[in-house]
Amino acid sequence: MKRGLILLFSAMLGTASLTYAGSGNLKLIIDAGHGGTDVGSKSKAGDKESDICLQIAEAIQDYAKENGIATEMTRTKKKETLSFDQRSGHKSEPGVKTFYISVHFDEDKKDPSVHGARVRYSDHAHYSNESRRLAQAIAQSLDKINNTPTKIETVDAIVFMKNDMPAIMVEPGRMNSAEDVKNIKEKDYRKEVAMYIVQAAMNQ
Ligand SMILES: [Zn+2]
Repeated sequence: MKRGLILLFSAMLGTASLTYAGSGNLKLIIDAGHGGTDVGSKSKAGDKESDICLQIAEAIQDYAKENGIATEMTRTKKKETLSFDQRSGHKSEPGVKTFYISVHFDEDKKDPSVHGARVRYSDHAHYSNESRRLAQAIAQSLDKINNTPTKIETVDAIVFMKNDMPAIMVEPGRMNSAEDVKNIKEKDYRKEVAMYIVQAAMNQ
């Protein structure tokens, strides 16, 4: 039943995939960026990146759970401050396809005109091919709801180097853009973003 619903939903949105083979062996480790004393960047209106990241991470978790995908959150509370060790060191279990998805909504201090989504991965970590494929799939997926094409960039972030599984960082928008911030504060928009991110993982 669930699978039928997903395929129907996918078909309606033009994202039907014939390669989708169920989600019983899939797990997502979802990392809400920043948190606690580290609020990340801030919007002009005072929105904290750390809070936005947690809301997106929760939407990803909800959509994943609805589709029978196992999840693990690195952080579940606004006031939780995580060390890099708490965000890294994750390993996948045998037979469980596991992806590490870190969520951010950064500001570009040098270029105030920056807007739109960005997905990053490392070219130098283990699983860089798988990470690149996941990053590309998420970018393609997010392009369905954004006017600006999703940027794909590489960076050797600790969360990529120290987690033993394909790992990406997704920013559905940027703090520089009032429109991006307005969109992501809408629950329905977050739900849609989450759906596209999870579907991209399901199709790997
Ligand atoms: Zn950030």
